[in-house]
Parts: sequence; structure tokens; C-alpha cells
Amino acid sequence: MTDERLVSFFRSLDRSRFMEESYQDLAGIDAAFPIRCGQTISQPSLVLYMTDKLRLDHTCSVLEIGTGSGYQTAFLAHFARWVHTVERISELSQLARSRLTELGYRNISYKTGDGSSGWIEHAPYDRIIVTAAPRFMPDDLTDQLAPNGIMILPLGKRGRQRLLRIERSAEGIITNTHLLDVAFVDLVGKYC
Ligand code: SAH
Repeated sequence: MTDERLVSFFRSLDRSRFMEESYQDLAGIDAAFPIRCGQTISQPSLVLYMTDKLRLDHTCSVLEIGTGSGYQTAFLAHFARWVHTVERISELSQLARSRLTELGYRNISYKTGDGSSGWIEHAPYDRIIVTAAPRFMPDDLTDQLAPNGIMILPLGKRGRQRLLRIERSAEGIITNTHLLDVAFVDLVGKYC
């Protein structure tokens, strides 16, 4: 995947389709906005940044924790082979599924529940992305990362969150890189 392909996909995807009606006019603004159930749709520049750092290709199986509006999921489904996405709020999961199905995506599996422990049935994953912040490192997710796998996640409590890239080498060695300071909603579940 190249930056150019990512930017061109970003331009082709109508973000307003993932937003509540009252915010749709603001879809072109680079900010997070409220969606239902007290959650948010992520800021587009951060979606682009996180997708880029995942270094996706069409062989990748991806696990996403925090489907939310489904906006980030569309990027994953476009550049990867298969996406397994987990959302704890059933209403959001169903809404995201209907939007993404309408847009033609057929390479996504949806699950409602606590994603802090991953989705063991389909593990290991080449890539994992978490779009809500756990307080503590979710070891269950790291365990589900394949050799040569990459996980991007925000970690820490509000006001002190860091976006991290976790990599597992072919030999199984885990390394951890601090990318940015960020502000995500809290992950609710085992690692909060
Ligand atoms: N990338 C999404 C961001 C949604 S906000 C978008 O752009 O729309 C983060 C989402 O994570 C919320 O929908 C929240 O309900 C969900 N979430 C929080 N804790 C979770 C958990 N333990 N398992 C699965 N989803 C969770």
C-alpha cells in the first residue's frame, strides 16, 4: 500500500455516511464527532495515520477492536484480505454492518461483545488495531498477533494516552514504539 492509494481511497469515501444526520455537514472537518451511544467517529487524519502505520496488504487478516461508526473498518476492508471487527455496543455494530454492506464490503466479520480479549476463533492476526484506549497493555491481544504482525493501539488513561505500535518479529520477539500522544474514548472491559 502506498500513501497515494491511501489518500485516494480517503477522498473517494464519503465520511458523512458514517455520521449522524445532525453532524453530516461537518464531515469534511478533520475532527472527531459524536455518534450514537456516547461514542465518537475518529478524526480522519488519525484514521489515515493509523492505517498507514499498519502497512496493510491484500494477504492480511486484521482484527479491529471498536467498530464504532465503521469508518476505520472501511479502510481496513479496502486494503486487507479480511477484517474481524468487534464492538461492545450492539446498536453501533448493527449500524456499521448495514452501512458497510451497502457500500459493498463482503470481507468483514462482525461481533458484538468485549473485544479486550480479542477474537480467539480467528487468531492469529497479521494486524490488530484498537480504536478505544485500555489503561493497561492488553496481553490477550498481543498473544493473538502472528509472527511479523503489527498492532496499533492507544494506551493509558485520558490526558495521558500514547499511540503505540507493537511488533512481533518472525522469531516472536515483541517490540514497542511510541508514535504519538492521542485522545481516544476508553476501552471498557478487562484492561480498563
Ligand atoms: N474507529 C471508530 C472509533 C469508534 S470509538 C470510528 O471511527 O467510528 C471506539 C469504539 O470502541 C466505541 O464504539 C466503543 O463502544 C468501542 N469499545 C469500547 N470498549 C470496547 C471493548 N471492550 N470491546 C469492543 N469495543 C469497545
